[in-house]
Amino acid sequence: MSEVLINVQNLTKFFTAKRNFWGSPTSFVKAVENVNFQVYKGETLGVVGETGCGKSTVGRTLVGLYKPTKGTVTCDGEDVHTAIASSNAMKMRRKIQMIFQDPYASLNPRMTVGDIIGEPLDIHRLASGVDDRTRRIYRLLRQVGLNPEHANRFPHEFSGGQRQRVGIARALAVNPEFIICDEPISALDVSIQAQVVNLLQELQQKFGLTYLFIAHDLSMVKHISTRVAVMYLGSLVELAPCDEIYKNPQHPYTQALLSAIPIADPVIEAKRQRIILEGDVPSPIDPPSGCKFRTRCRYAAPQCAKEVPAFIEGANHHAVACHLVNK
Ligand code: SF4
Repeated sequence: MSEVLINVQNLTKFFTAKRNFWGSPTSFVKAVENVNFQVYKGETLGVVGETGCGKSTVGRTLVGLYKPTKGTVTCDGEDVHTAIASSNAMKMRRKIQMIFQDPYASLNPRMTVGDIIGEPLDIHRLASGVDDRTRRIYRLLRQVGLNPEHANRFPHEFSGGQRQRVGIARALAVNPEFIICDEPISALDVSIQAQVVNLLQELQQKFGLTYLFIAHDLSMVKHISTRVAVMYLGSLVELAPCDEIYKNPQHPYTQALLSAIPIADPVIEAKRQRIILEGDVPSPIDPPSGCKFRTRCRYAAPQCAKEVPAFIEGANHHAVACHLVNK
């Protein structure tokens, strides 16, 4: 493995769910709890899980939009949240950028595409004058497969895929090292999804970028990820190199997610056994004791209710949090 760029240690993020008469918090949404992982330079770490599993909260905490309740996030050895609260904030914000899920909502409809891409150049004072600013905007548009003439148009004049390209150009404007892609293809047509994934891969090669790629299903991260992490109810349950996790899923939740992906071959598809998860995802306000997945796990044993399974790395850099696997 190469050098660690992002190091996440015991990351916990709780949101206040209820307050008492005096305004003190009385219950919390436990969005993310004791999450540990590293992102290596130049890789793409895919993060997968159902809606509400905490994957977007992890992304937003990494970029500094949320302050962790507990734990630390470092980028190149520097604490992200300490840097953001100090005079180093601009430098850290340039290093870590984010691409959002909804290209409709994340672009200001009153600004031209040129100004949307030019805004981070202005904030970080990266252009040496008006001509340099225009040159940079045109170059960024070309880098994401758009035409420089598009600079004078407004977001509503573009398709969803083109709007997502504008979002990518805006993130690239400050020459970041690490980009958090928060479900960047979920809102796009299937035919456009592959184009955006290919573009992200090309840009990664060209600029040596590192990605955290968040998605809600395992099929979306397969072609872009170096490693894949699976989250359930605010906890990391499995993390392994991409090929390894698809060939040898070990956590019962990952096995269920994988079994839900349709297979193109009709013969194999007909023989395939789907694992249907019973029940709903429990409330993050009051998650189950021990293993949070136990209320839906077909292998749950008494120990699973008593002890939180440790996240243990085994062979092939494959880490799993399950009593059954780690016996
Ligand atoms: Fe299932 Fe127990 Fe493993 Fe949790 S620890 S996934 S409940 S077997």
